[in-house]
Amino acid sequence: MDQRPKVVVIGSLNMDLVVKAVRAPKRGETVLGEEIHFVPGGKGANQAIGLARLGAETTMIGAVGSDAFGEELKNALQADGVSTSSIKVLDSQATGVASILLAEGDNSIVVVPGANAQCLPEDLDQYEGIISEADLVLLQLEIPLMTVEHAIRLARRHGTLVMLNPAPAQSLSQNLLRQVDYLTPNRSELALLTEMPEESAIDQGIQRLLEVGVSCCVTTLGAEGVAFKELGGSLVSISGHKVPVVDTTGAGDAFNAGLAYALAQRKSIREAAEFAVKVSALAVTKFGAQGGMPSLAEVEAYFR
Ligand code: ATP
Repeated sequence: MDQRPKVVVIGSLNMDLVVKAVRAPKRGETVLGEEIHFVPGGKGANQAIGLARLGAETTMIGAVGSDAFGEELKNALQADGVSTSSIKVLDSQATGVASILLAEGDNSIVVVPGANAQCLPEDLDQYEGIISEADLVLLQLEIPLMTVEHAIRLARRHGTLVMLNPAPAQSLSQNLLRQVDYLTPNRSELALLTEMPEESAIDQGIQRLLEVGVSCCVTTLGAEGVAFKELGGSLVSISGHKVPVVDTTGAGDAFNAGLAYALAQRKSIREAAEFAVKVSALAVTKFGAQGGMPSLAEVEAYFR
């Protein structure tokens, strides 16, 4: 396909407030922090930026508050060429925030979904035309499940490919799973979805999801790479690339962006997974989730 693939991402936008302190406060205590960083995030927005940097014509559907964070998150998407006119701006809700405290080598996180929880099924109907013209719709689980279900319904009505990154981990109905073309759990999400212990063989977990009706399950395995299986096929493993690791935050988002980009171009699942493993390897060599997303030229140059 010579044309740029068209992808619609329906998902979350969050501002990550990252605070560093020598130690975490005890109950009722105040401690002085050392640093604070405001980092644009949210799995939806991260994956949309990843797709746009690779060259996909990317539209993001989601919701933010009418506040400075919402404005900043939209600006970050626009700067990479993501279309943001289908992002709803709400006066009644704050933009989603993840408050992350880094102390004593540990992190504690409070996520307030805010506007993300108001990304509603009925909001999608006006974008049915965009969904019908897209090559692929990419979803995660940081917006209401009802909205994810409705997005899948609309995509299937028009024969648009459906890819679901089931993160953060949440159990899903059989009815939803069997409408998904590509499901991309990491190891712990696979365990939760299949109700099998994390130590179980990957093959068994994937097989269980295929039996439920998922067409293809692609499980990410951190530095080890990825394993996937299609209905009626056998398990294929692709090793991770050895790279100088700087920050693995957003490795999963980079992988999903890479996979969605290649699948939207109608590449085979093997080619798409090989490409996504490269994209995500490169992403961990840089700081930040959105900051680490590589361009297509960077991927091609690194793995020449
Ligand atoms: P996160 O939640 O940190 O974004 P995740 O748990 O969703 O990540 P992982 O399975 O950790 O996803 O990583 C996704 C992909 O990123 C892997 O399949 C692999 O291709 C790549 N990757 C992750 N960590 C490394 C690493 N240390 N070196 C090379 N590639 C990596």
